[in-house]
Amino acid sequence: MKKVLIDPRLKWCKANLHCHTNQSDGFYTPTEIKKHYMEQGYSIVAFSDHEMIFDNSYLTDENFVAITATEYSISLPSPNGFRDVVTIHMNLFSKDPHNLFHPGANLDTFSNKQKELFKEKYHMDIPCDNYQRVFTQESIQEVINRANSMGFLVQLNHPNWSLNIRDDYMNLKGLWALEIFNYLTELETGAEYCPNIYDDMLRHGHKLYCTMGDDNHNYQGSFEGSFGGITYIGVESLTYDHVYSAMKNGNLYCTMGPIIKELSYDNEKKIVHVECSEVVDIILVGYNRTFYHVYGEDLTHAEFILNGQEKYFRIAIKDKYGRYGNTHAYYLDELDK
Ligand SMILES: [Zn+2]
Ligand SMILES: [Zn+2]
Repeated sequence: MKKVLIDPRLKWCKANLHCHTNQSDGFYTPTEIKKHYMEQGYSIVAFSDHEMIFDNSYLTDENFVAITATEYSISLPSPNGFRDVVTIHMNLFSKDPHNLFHPGANLDTFSNKQKELFKEKYHMDIPCDNYQRVFTQESIQEVINRANSMGFLVQLNHPNWSLNIRDDYMNLKGLWALEIFNYLTELETGAEYCPNIYDDMLRHGHKLYCTMGDDNHNYQGSFEGSFGGITYIGVESLTYDHVYSAMKNGNLYCTMGPIIKELSYDNEKKIVHVECSEVVDIILVGYNRTFYHVYGEDLTHAEFILNGQEKYFRIAIKDKYGRYGNTHAYYLDELDK
């Protein structure tokens, strides 16, 4: 039976899942972000301002969904300052668009500007149980657990910029996705495309998705860090609930540019079929040292016949500009059912 994994009959919406506004240290207001991103063809933005949750769902309409989100961070104290600080950043995406309660909120992490803005907007104190964060596996895990229990999807962000080593994330449970490309920190580090970390986590039994995001701050109104890390989300209709469910169920792929139009798997013939925009390389990556390539000019499709030992597969495509698109991993034992 042919299983359609990336279904062209769905509406594939262009999303930025990592965005900062003037509600933290970004430049633009959420309304301005909506305008600028819609002009570039986006219909979803997750407003993941630092440490505080704002409900921007007043921006949601039939052509746009504003995901209520926040970026949580915890750092290891460093005597040598910012350059040496090892940190963990995670985006939390809320199931409830109107939720203002951050499961790991601590009063010390809010800026005065944020506190004033929150009061101005909601005429109430910030809901916060002053969770004491420390940079330990237990504390980070507890925040993930608290977030998951409230329906948040939890994503590990930009592990290279954070100076993360395997021990920082390999034993964390309950992660929904790894951000395998962060456009802003890629411009800074040149090393933020990290499918190798995703593969390492998959090989060690983690089942999670992968995304790309901008992490745009738009300092001084520039668009540096905007429009380069895209996640496409497939929905039946563009509503908050449909977008959240599609994210939760993995109806998504991520890209720096090239488009994946269709992905299917025939579980009798063991054939994976990919349709995409013009690329020069289509790769199937499976468990351990499993890499099947099709190279060429102007490739728009590929078929891979599996031997059944791959355990899982993910597809990566590369266009002539060196820009990658990636699916998440699909598991043969689930597809063969
Ligand atoms: Zn970050
Ligand atoms: Zn960020």
